[in-house]
Amino acid sequence: MSTVSFESLHWLRRFLDGTPGDDQVGGRPRQVPKVCWSRVTPATAPHPTLRLWSVEMGSELGLEAGHEKILGGSVSVKGMDSYAQRYGGHQFGHWAGQLGDGRAITLGEVKTASDVLELQLKGAGTTPYSRTADGKAVLRSSIREFLCSEAMHHLGVPTTRALSLVTTGEAVVRDVLYNGNPAPEPGAVVCRVAPSFLRFGSFQIHAAMGDRKTLATLVEHTVKHHFPDHHVNDDEGRVAWLERIAEDTAVMIAHWNRVGFVHGVMNTDNMSIHGLTIDYGPYGWLEDYNPNWTPNTTDASRRRYRYGQQAHIGAWNIARFLESIGPLMEEPEHLHEVLNTYYAAYEKHNSSMWAEKLGMDELRESDAPLLEDLVALLQKVETDMTVFFRLLSSLEEPKIKYLQTAFYDVTQCPEDEWNGWLNQWWQRVKGEPNRERMRRANPKYVLRNWMAQKAIEAAEEEDFSVAETLYQLLKKPYDEQPEFENEWFKKRPEWARNKVGCSMLSCSS
Ligand code: AMP
Ligand code: MG
Repeated sequence: MSTVSFESLHWLRRFLDGTPGDDQVGGRPRQVPKVCWSRVTPATAPHPTLRLWSVEMGSELGLEAGHEKILGGSVSVKGMDSYAQRYGGHQFGHWAGQLGDGRAITLGEVKTASDVLELQLKGAGTTPYSRTADGKAVLRSSIREFLCSEAMHHLGVPTTRALSLVTTGEAVVRDVLYNGNPAPEPGAVVCRVAPSFLRFGSFQIHAAMGDRKTLATLVEHTVKHHFPDHHVNDDEGRVAWLERIAEDTAVMIAHWNRVGFVHGVMNTDNMSIHGLTIDYGPYGWLEDYNPNWTPNTTDASRRRYRYGQQAHIGAWNIARFLESIGPLMEEPEHLHEVLNTYYAAYEKHNSSMWAEKLGMDELRESDAPLLEDLVALLQKVETDMTVFFRLLSSLEEPKIKYLQTAFYDVTQCPEDEWNGWLNQWWQRVKGEPNRERMRRANPKYVLRNWMAQKAIEAAEEEDFSVAETLYQLLKKPYDEQPEFENEWFKKRPEWARNKVGCSMLSCSS
């Protein structure tokens, strides 16, 4: 594909033209009723330096690495018309009112050969939705967002993408553990990319304010541009559209559970209407298989967003989204059908993913005990999820001794029970699990928190080579890549067990 400048990208302004916006440009944080967006200008970065670049995303847009002034927020080009989106949301189960893009600024929509993509800078300064915060982002959270969005894409998990990471040359002060120890950190801006950054909360805000007119306009705009196979002319059409979103959401969460990803902050403002993983904050990856685990220290006591609860929270969030569409329905009771669709879709996709993980063509009802026993055994002693399933994918004899490296303390391994389970599974797959299928469902490399932490610590010393290595490694998460095995295909090292950034993450970013 030819290389073009930002000016010659094919810029569109569908959202700005199709939905109501704020009369004021920029301005102080405030309530902005009856609109979907406010125009804003990104802040100027003192020393923008390009540090990470997604070659794949760049080539989709026809761009080559560079453009740090634009991607750091300092320069605008013809065709761009930057804005922050207004939305609301339920945070940790409670309605939080107006939130909005407090530190995300959309540069515009770009038409590519196959899509229209929204380009958005995260960390480029305040907007009317910044509330009391600074609109900035620190390097550590930006590296986590860049690496994880690209890694998820290559894992086959629906996600927003990252194009670039630019350090700004500006210090940003954060209190990482919210314990009264603020400290300066390097600032950064990630340019992220998605068909849109519309969330459940984008619709909720208008319903909550009783603004049916803006709600209807936003729904019509969304369906016209993002769901062209659908219509919302009647209840039947609306329900079918919502079912599509419910199914996409269910597929995304089934994928999260397949690869051991824990989002950490499944607030309704962090739920994309495209069923894309969005807003990489205090996310994490299971190391030992613990359904009660959450990486988010802010949620440590209630564990609302723990691994084992993600599918239920998906339903809860869909229910809030459905309530927000209620005012447009002639017979709102039909919205219940959407929840049933969500649960059915989750069951279907989750069970087909389990079948893939276990090398079967499909899961039968009679397989339920096999699965229950597996999940119980995985929790009996500390067992690494990724290592376990990856080694299982190449097993030639049903003996747990070949999976030893999955155990954090191999002397604790319940050997007899495991051999019993492996035998049952072996019989079920007639000694011939579909290994190819398993290797495509059980990644060898995922972005464990301690891996991201290594990249962050090096980057904070101006060395981006670890981040670059991980970006390359995680492009092929299902390949053996033996040259990376010693360093990256392993259980969490002991130093990471109780380390901030590895076992504990906050929303401070
Ligand atoms: P999050 O937890 O990252 O999804 O953010 C929740 C809300 O807080 C969103 O409205 C964000 O835009 C806003 N927010 C988070 N961090 C900042 C920041 N540093 N400055 C301004 N707004 C922020
Ligand atoms: Mg968010």
